[in-house]
Amino acid sequence: MGALDLSAYGLTDEQHELAGLVRAFADEQVAPRAYEADRTKTLPLEVVAAMGDLGLFGLPFPEEVGGQGGDAVALGLAIEALARVDQSIAITLEAGVSLGAMPVFRFGTDAQRAELLPDLLAGRALAGFGLTEPEAGSDAGGTRTTARLESTATGDEWVIDGAKQFITNSGTAITRFVTVTAVTGERVGADGAPRKEISTVIVPSGTPGFTVGPAYDKVGWHASDTHPLSFDGARVPAANLLGERGRGFANFLSILDEGRIAIAALSTGAAEGCLEAAIDYAGTRQVFGERLGSRQAIQFMIARMQLRVHNARLAWLHAARLQAAGRPFTTEAAIAKLTASDAAMDNARDATQIFGGNGFMNEYPVARHYRDSKILEIGEGTTEVQLLVIARALGLAG
Ligand SMILES: Cc1cc2nc3c(=O)[nH]c(=O)nc-3n(C[C@H](O)[C@H](O)[C@H](O)COP(=O)(O)OP(=O)(O)OC[C@H]3O[C@@H](n4cnc5c(N)ncnc54)[C@H](O)[C@@H]3O)c2cc1C
Repeated sequence: MGALDLSAYGLTDEQHELAGLVRAFADEQVAPRAYEADRTKTLPLEVVAAMGDLGLFGLPFPEEVGGQGGDAVALGLAIEALARVDQSIAITLEAGVSLGAMPVFRFGTDAQRAELLPDLLAGRALAGFGLTEPEAGSDAGGTRTTARLESTATGDEWVIDGAKQFITNSGTAITRFVTVTAVTGERVGADGAPRKEISTVIVPSGTPGFTVGPAYDKVGWHASDTHPLSFDGARVPAANLLGERGRGFANFLSILDEGRIAIAALSTGAAEGCLEAAIDYAGTRQVFGERLGSRQAIQFMIARMQLRVHNARLAWLHAARLQAAGRPFTTEAAIAKLTASDAAMDNARDATQIFGGNGFMNEYPVARHYRDSKILEIGEGTTEVQLLVIARALGLAG
């Protein structure tokens, strides 16, 4: 089994072909732009459009809504292939599908699907998902943003107040809307105690009172679009409620479960990019009159990198196949996300070490992977949150 050999993973011919197509696209169209996009902190929208033309944004959606009729495996293969060369582009696709389009597909009305999905699935538009707030990250139930239903002469409207932070794809030139979680009231829980009623509401870009703050100065993922958002009496029609009122919390948890598989695939791609770079470099770099790769210490380091890629790929493929088969996958998604994000971080560190001083220079992709990979242990549920999910499944945590 070579580093790139996907044939050992039981893919169908169609999945194999898809992976090959996206790998070629990544090498030819994405990799040559990655350094400059990172340096200038710019999302290359022409790459987003090209991914749209390839059908990547529609991969896991049925053909009836304009998708490609694939599943979580197909999406993961595409994201893994892109992340090998550019994590910013891979996360733009991941967030565009899992956080932008998927909530509309899963919970939207026919009218919302018909209005919003065609452009999202074609890559002509992006959307963000605003869950995280200054006081609500891992503890997502801490949401303070409110949406209050108000009657007006022209019909009922949600009036939204609050703030979100770190929201991906929320401020690009083609961002059409963000879906936000907000407290819409209070309910009595099964134990008789009052609980926040959390719902999700679609807020179109440009809505008065909705402000997209300046892009963050991030450690990595420089070409990915991330902004703070604020809502100051932002008004949207009552029909912009996404899913059932009060189901927002449960709905976004299920969206995050799916997203974790995609982040695991992204992490696997990152780990693989580092592995490939390390093999190439160790094969050419001369030290003490020999190839660097002739040293057993380096061979063992690279062998461990391969092991991590393999385990990470098995883990995300397993979770994705469970999801595609309609079986429970929450714990497996958490295991995959944790396994693969560890693999990405460890491989980025080892590859950088193998590159020596060059590994600290941004012109080498391993340096970018080193900066980019840290967020994989934080976004869509931190490492500790994944452990909590796994411990819960073992009956160890409440
Ligand atoms: C580049 C980027 C893009 C992002 N994109 C989005 C997006 O599109 N939409 C969105 O909604 N959010 C997004 N996020 C937010 C991200 O999901 C959160 O940052 C993440 O969930 C962690 O939340 P937090 O930052 O509030 O950290 P906290 O929740 O404050 O956690 C701080 C630390 O405490 C640990 N911790 C917390 N609770 C426990 C516990 N019970 N037991 C043990 N340890 C614990 C955490 O694991 C972490 O190490 C993004 C973040 C970044 C940096």
